[in-house]
Amino acid sequence: MATIVQKFGGTSVGSIERIQNVANRVIEEVENGNYVVVVVSAMGKTTDELVQLAKQISSQPSKREMDMLLSTGEQVSIALLALALQEKGYQAVSLTGWQAGIQTEAVHGNARIMEIDTSRIRQYLQEGKIVIVAGFQGITENGEITTLGRGGSDTTAVALAAALQADKCDIYTDVTGVFTTDPRYVKQARKLQEISYDEMLELANLGAGVLHPRAVEFAKNYQVPLEVRSSVEQERGTIVKEDVSMEQHLIVRGIAFEDQVTKVTVQGLSKGLWTLPTIFTALANRGINVDIIIQSMTNNDTTSVSFSIRTEDLQETLEVLQSWQGVKVEYESQLAKVSIVGSGMISNPGVAAQMFQVLADCGVEVKMVSTSEIKISTIIAQEKMVAAVEALHEAFQLDEKAVVSS
Ligand code: ADP
Ligand code: ASP
Ligand code: MG
Repeated sequence: MATIVQKFGGTSVGSIERIQNVANRVIEEVENGNYVVVVVSAMGKTTDELVQLAKQISSQPSKREMDMLLSTGEQVSIALLALALQEKGYQAVSLTGWQAGIQTEAVHGNARIMEIDTSRIRQYLQEGKIVIVAGFQGITENGEITTLGRGGSDTTAVALAAALQADKCDIYTDVTGVFTTDPRYVKQARKLQEISYDEMLELANLGAGVLHPRAVEFAKNYQVPLEVRSSVEQERGTIVKEDVSMEQHLIVRGIAFEDQVTKVTVQGLSKGLWTLPTIFTALANRGINVDIIIQSMTNNDTTSVSFSIRTEDLQETLEVLQSWQGVKVEYESQLAKVSIVGSGMISNPGVAAQMFQVLADCGVEVKMVSTSEIKISTIIAQEKMVAAVEALHEAFQLDEKAVVSS
């Protein structure tokens, strides 16, 4: 018998009717003769609502209590799904993260999974039960409940699939697969039949929320075959795997974007070996994630550094920088990051040039740039974000060649 891990996201379990639909999708796999482990997210916008409740009490709630609070969302959906399956005549058992043996590092709010003791899950499977596991949560060595970061249920599913050596891991969501760009913003977006782990990892890290980046990391490291597909439609989704055929000759396979970016510039820093490590260590110690960094020499004595951050971290960043005497700090918010991704870039020079040309043609000023082997990211004005993505989508022919449906 094959083992299959299925994951259903928030929208897919957003109402009782949808939970019934999920139960039917689970039953299909059971009836196909598989052992089935199901991972679910909290219903609909529950996690956001819980965050809002906490914010009504505290502007900086303790991370431990936030984990305690947010982990309740998934506990509701596992129990409801187990009940739905039992009502339909199937044996099902729900497990919280700790009951499922998911041990994480001791970092509240964004913990990594360290180890999974699958013995309890395996035993239930042997007993003929469908096992339903709460996504997004785990427990530390000291028995503290942790969460895996927003969108982390994907990671629970892929990590479980790896630990159970499952034959496949299906991520059921509210779109029919991974698209060339977010189909909610760009109507020309096309579903990809397949995408490589590396490309998917870049897209996920650069803001394509369809998969949690750590889920893709796990899938790549443990070679878990992944499929992203719709929880409502029957059509096949997108396969995420190691090698992808280059028959489509696509240099760029997808475009990711995110808003709420701020560029911070610090001028008048004294030159010296310790300036950069001191600033960025101070920011890191406050948990501030710095993205693109540009250093420019201004005159003989001083240097200036610009970097991008998430706008939500701006206040804390300014607090950190205020402790430097004699420096001038400026910032620009209302920015966005638009990135093109594709492994074809490695062997094709001129992709950056083409990207800048397209952006210039539609009047978009590029404020910062960063590149890797398979991606180019630009920081631009937030108000131009969607127009820029649409123009790039067309220029790199994503609407034409990427069309693959099965
Ligand atoms: P779930 O609750 O099922 O985990 P998410 O909201 O986390 O669902 O992820 C699905 C969403 O990801 C889609 O509704 C879509 O708006 C967004 N998305 C962003 N980039 C892409 C992309 N390249 N392909 C498909 N969906 C994308
Ligand atoms: N419920 C969590 C969130 O909204 C985890 C997830 O959905 O993957 O972020
Ligand atoms: Mg998600």
